[in-house]
Amino acid sequence: MSTVHDILILGSGAAGYTAAIYAGRANRKPVVICGIQHGGQLTITTEVENYPGFGEPIMGPELMERMKQQAIRSGATLVEDLTQVERVDFARRPFRVWTDDGREWQARVVIVATGASAKWIGLPNEQHFMGHGVSACATCDGPFYKGRRVVVVGGGDTAMEEATYLAQLTSEVVVVHRRDTLRASKAMQDRAMRNPKIRFVWDSEVIDVNGAESPTKVTGVKIRHLKTGAVSELPTDALFVAIGHQPNTGFLAGALTTDERGYVRVTPGSTRTNVPGVFAAGDVADPVFRQAVTAAGMGCMAAIEAEHRLQHEAHLAETGAHTG
Ligand code: NAP
Repeated sequence: MSTVHDILILGSGAAGYTAAIYAGRANRKPVVICGIQHGGQLTITTEVENYPGFGEPIMGPELMERMKQQAIRSGATLVEDLTQVERVDFARRPFRVWTDDGREWQARVVIVATGASAKWIGLPNEQHFMGHGVSACATCDGPFYKGRRVVVVGGGDTAMEEATYLAQLTSEVVVVHRRDTLRASKAMQDRAMRNPKIRFVWDSEVIDVNGAESPTKVTGVKIRHLKTGAVSELPTDALFVAIGHQPNTGFLAGALTTDERGYVRVTPGSTRTNVPGVFAAGDVADPVFRQAVTAAGMGCMAAIEAEHRLQHEAHLAETGAHTG
């Protein structure tokens, strides 16, 4: 029989570590299953200028390392052996979680903070230039390209939002879209199209990133016109991939209610899911804001709600009533 933990946290991004800090300080000895990408999406960005509290920009990986150390100091145990959660059983108590190394974990409360992953195009050089000109987050990395030229790929609301945001900072934004009509809402299309700094390249796909070394930087993208097949080089200082995000919820396999895009549904103003005792925080439950600071805020909320839940269950156990 494995140990039944009070609080099991799935994921080690800003939401997971913040939940761990709060739960640790409440003396719940939380266990964090860190997954494969320890520290989450912030570890694939460079300088973070919008996380409050740092006069000088802090590097994303360093910010996450500090959160991790704070979680450990608060009493959290981190499972850092690159195991991932494979499946869960939230239908029975205690809740059960299985990792892909065959281990079973049991807990009275689970906080799902597995984040979301940007969709990437899959270009040969995309990973190589990530953090050096290739990005999936204009809010995070746009300010590094003030007065420079950038390319945005995508035709949905995210791409229009990123392009409009980047146009405030950069000298030119070129949106490369694979069709000749946008998927984005009319209002967001209109706003982008009216912007004199935004130019559209239609019916085209980016097929690779070109760049230089020492320092590693992007110098252009190679694009192919899908109707003529013509390949050309578009000079740019950065490539922003804005073809959508996907929440990391595959392992849930229906154990929690999700929306049509796979994000865990939580009660508005709360991190409660449809299963009492299971909470969701950060990008896995947030299709709107997706910021480090909002993820951290949700992690805090989840830990506080988890604490209330444990106290409620303890009270019910004392009085002999049933949990629900
Ligand atoms: P999306 O609506 O799925 O659009 C993705 C875009 O990327 C599409 O234009 C698609 O092209 C293109 N694309 C997909 N895969 C591609 C690939 N491999 N190579 C090149 N292009 C590719 O995703 P989203 O824009 O992230 O929006 C997701 C949801 O969030 C939507 O419901 C949206 O309304 C919502 N959202 C709302 C707001 C807001 O209201 N402020 C902001 C952001 C997002 P095709 O069009 O050819 O399929």
